[in-house]
Amino acid sequence: MLLCLSVTFLLFSCQVNTDDDDDDDPETDIRILPDDTESALLSFTAQAPDITALRIIGFSSGTPSYPIYALKITDNPGVDENEPEIQMTGGVHGDEQLSIMMVLTLIEYILDNYATNQEIADLVDNNELHFFPSINPYGLANETRYNANSVDLNRNFGWAWVSQAHHGAGPFDQPESQAIRDDALEHSYALSLHGHTGSVCINTLWDYIGTTEAQGVINPYDYITYSKESFIASYLPSYPFIESLATTYLSKVNTAGDINFWMTEGYDWYVVYGSIQDWLYAVNGTMAFTLEYHLTKNHTELDEELFGEVFGYHRDALIRIFQDAGRGISGIVTGPDGIKVDAKVTLTPPVKREYTGPVAYSPFSYTDPDFGDFHIPIQPGTYNLQIEADGYITKTVTGVVVPALDPRTIVVDVGLVPGKSVKQQSLESPVIDPDSVRPDLREE
Ligand SMILES: [Zn+2]
Repeated sequence: MLLCLSVTFLLFSCQVNTDDDDDDDPETDIRILPDDTESALLSFTAQAPDITALRIIGFSSGTPSYPIYALKITDNPGVDENEPEIQMTGGVHGDEQLSIMMVLTLIEYILDNYATNQEIADLVDNNELHFFPSINPYGLANETRYNANSVDLNRNFGWAWVSQAHHGAGPFDQPESQAIRDDALEHSYALSLHGHTGSVCINTLWDYIGTTEAQGVINPYDYITYSKESFIASYLPSYPFIESLATTYLSKVNTAGDINFWMTEGYDWYVVYGSIQDWLYAVNGTMAFTLEYHLTKNHTELDEELFGEVFGYHRDALIRIFQDAGRGISGIVTGPDGIKVDAKVTLTPPVKREYTGPVAYSPFSYTDPDFGDFHIPIQPGTYNLQIEADGYITKTVTGVVVPALDPRTIVVDVGLVPGKSVKQQSLESPVIDPDSVRPDLREE
């Protein structure tokens, strides 16, 4: 019933394409445009003004320049609270319309069920959900993967960026990637999901570097790989948690009926330089995933019935991964008299650097500038935290135990004393050896 409502809603404001040559059934082809996503978002805020807030994070390349919208859903949407912030995007590749419809339809599902479904009410009341249905609206309008400058925005971010066709002249040289970057730096998302279509998998970190367990595929470019042990020790200490979230997502999709769904480390599938998910994790401390919802790519392959099926495969998996994003370590950092402090909270000791190439990495979180809260999703275990902030003495908290049983969450509130801070060396993007760069051939 809800799925019918969702698609009916979209169809209500969208054109039904009737003249597409390669359409299986032109009468039922769903085609949405930037105006449709905009009017859908406006109708959501009218439907649920008490739990929504719509903002524009920037504008697209091209003429006309389209606004890039984000819809926040939470109780008390006008203020920041001590809650994990979660991001979900669609349409970074403008020709992957299904990924945009997934975001809009999930929003509609959440709003329609908030008053009657306790699980949804808890999700909304205890998190700050940020939905970005269409982050490449020029691409949506013009049915292209790229923005108006022929750049693949998922190759334009500042972690392990390389110069290749469609990557831009430099990292963050496009207005869309700048807008997403600046918004992320303001929000310190605990979890971020990026939707695509054209395959069926959940794709985890990293995209630019991988383990030797990579599908057994040996190729001449594949020398930057590591054992899983050194990978966890040096490059991805939260790997077990990332893997458990992906495994749960996979099993929920399978249970819902899509038995072909699979999971992969990004690099194991195909290497991507300058991806959104790598940058978010390395620079912003955000645990990020790429979702490929379905084998169909173009909207001409999509009709109402098929979309309803695909949404049905993913709906409960999405709700579940949102719920799990808050597991790990959270707290509030304050100074004298309880004032909120802009701080960086890092798991210590910093991971060992075993190889001179890539950058060693420790999970971290910036505190929310408005509330002082931080959230580090991590598997159960015992950790030390280092808390650093300008104008405050750096503090270490030892023996923080994330329990193995639910809620698998520990709260560590930290008080800082004014003084001179000892700053960790800031993390800089790895420089990729040009001889190791692989061709960028994939288009999922
Ligand atoms: Zn894509």
